[in-house]
Amino acid sequence: MTTLPIVQIGDPVLRRRAAEVPPETIASSELQTLIDRMIETMRAAPGVGLAAPQVGEARRIIVVEDPPAAIERLGEAQREERQRTDAFPLQVFINPRIRPLAGTGRTIFPEGCLSIPGYAGLVERPLDIEITYLDRRGIFHDWTPVHGWPARIIQHEMDHLDGILYTDKALPRSLMTDENMRRRTEGRSVSALIAELADEG
Ligand code: ZN
Repeated sequence: MTTLPIVQIGDPVLRRRAAEVPPETIASSELQTLIDRMIETMRAAPGVGLAAPQVGEARRIIVVEDPPAAIERLGEAQREERQRTDAFPLQVFINPRIRPLAGTGRTIFPEGCLSIPGYAGLVERPLDIEITYLDRRGIFHDWTPVHGWPARIIQHEMDHLDGILYTDKALPRSLMTDENMRRRTEGRSVSALIAELADEG
């Protein structure tokens, strides 16, 4: 297994708009190897998503996977609140485009990032999206609706392709260590934490 170093916040590659992948290069061994290494790096971290800029490659590729073992670690209430009820099989998205679906809600959940280790914040995002993309064989897909937790992961990773980090979008005052986020959301709703943050000080 070959993992790649994960680029950390402050590196300019995380702030650049990543370039489209020329479709005719998708089958190349160079690109297929990069995808394999991104998957291995995500799994080793471990993380549920990784964007190519996070391994120093400003190209529009993301990988996502939420294995059953990660979901089993959550309590039932957390699974329900995060709409993280089903495992999410490994998927590779090349040149993805997303749009929020009209008439659906927005939700606020804790997020962290492998490029900002040790921290978490609350981020509001649309609950349902549509995504179009090429898979690693270069085949076009239109997936709609993507609902709940997978939609959240995809939106976080998509932001990386546009040089955006979750800390740019987090609710003011919600950035904290991931340990404190775990402690303050355990067995209670995110809205209870939001109310508490507003009352602090
Ligand atoms: Zn991230």
